[in-house]
Amino acid sequence: MKTYRLAAIPGDGIGGEVVAASLEVLHAIAARVAGFRFEVDIFDWGGLYYKKHGLMMPENGRDLIRHHDAILFGSAGHPDIPDHVTLWGLRLAICQPFDQYANVRPTRVLPGVTSPLRDALGLDWVIVRENSEGEYAGVGGRVHRGSPLEAATDVAMFTRQGVLRIMRFAFDLARSRPRRQLTVVTKSNAQRHAMVMWDEIAAEVAREFPEVVWDKMLVDAMTARMVMHPSTLDTIVATNLHADILSDLAAALTGSLGIAPTANLNPERAFPSMFEPIHGSAFDIAGKGIANPIGTFWSGVLLLEHLGEKAAAHRLMTAIERVMADRRWHTPDLGGTARTADVTAAVIDAIHGAN
Ligand code: ATP
Ligand code: MG
Repeated sequence: MKTYRLAAIPGDGIGGEVVAASLEVLHAIAARVAGFRFEVDIFDWGGLYYKKHGLMMPENGRDLIRHHDAILFGSAGHPDIPDHVTLWGLRLAICQPFDQYANVRPTRVLPGVTSPLRDALGLDWVIVRENSEGEYAGVGGRVHRGSPLEAATDVAMFTRQGVLRIMRFAFDLARSRPRRQLTVVTKSNAQRHAMVMWDEIAAEVAREFPEVVWDKMLVDAMTARMVMHPSTLDTIVATNLHADILSDLAAALTGSLGIAPTANLNPERAFPSMFEPIHGSAFDIAGKGIANPIGTFWSGVLLLEHLGEKAAAHRLMTAIERVMADRRWHTPDLGGTARTADVTAAVIDAIHGAN
């Protein structure tokens, strides 16, 4: 039987709860859809690890997970540790060296879930976020700390190769979806260097994909369009910062931050890809057993798709939809009273066709 090696990094807060639930679900789907199994290694990296060792993950951490088939990540962050330390010390310390440059975020309103939009009919998007450079390239500096002359820069750095590869990825993904439609988001009216290059490269790549209908939007206008005319959008590509913001908006429009999944892909498969819910460690509800695990389950669907296990991915997505359609299984963030364990059991039952 085929065995996939999975590296699980639960992290902090509710990360541990939703990753444990997802591992149960992934083992259940593997048992139901014959032909493969998961072998899981769990790594206790994150905020608590930092408090003991002064690092978010060990120096050789990446070597320990480099040969796994995929990474399942929960959330890292701790109220006592600055966010930029946890982000750069773990998530970005994996994403960047593993060249997971395509961050993919499917966005749909699941049956049974209420969107804050009056009319969310037809909201079915995939947001592609450039995940390796741009505004989060880490370029910049700070001088004259504490003096009146103090100054700081964060330079948004875009390379032609970096923009080309994310644009090709996005056009290719758009072509694989029924509507074959892509919206390229920039701020090229105000940012006249990199964003203009982004627009030019989009036009170049568009010629390689004549089947794809595409348009351009400025990011500010895009937020309004997402809210006012959601059904006019399909695949969306944007820079690291812009897509970060747009995808939180998108997640909120689907009913809860707890539902939204994401994949950090290295499309060339030179390194493992990483799958995680978009929410953070949510310490306000940690340890209470009420975190919504659906975002992490859905990330499991993306993980299965990435491994090429299409039948298993489809079966798990169907189980998630069936469970969400029944309000008994809604956690408090969705206005219900279900607990993480109830949702997990319901999804496992649905995998086995029991409900
Ligand atoms: P971090 O600092 O790690 O990003 P955070 O405290 O900013 O974490 P998020 O997880 O990003 O929190 O989410 C903000 C709020 O949304 C949380 O405080 C929590 O109440 C709610 N929330 C997020 N994820 C979930 C979930 N899976 N289930 C239920 N509620 C959630
Ligand atoms: Mg947060």
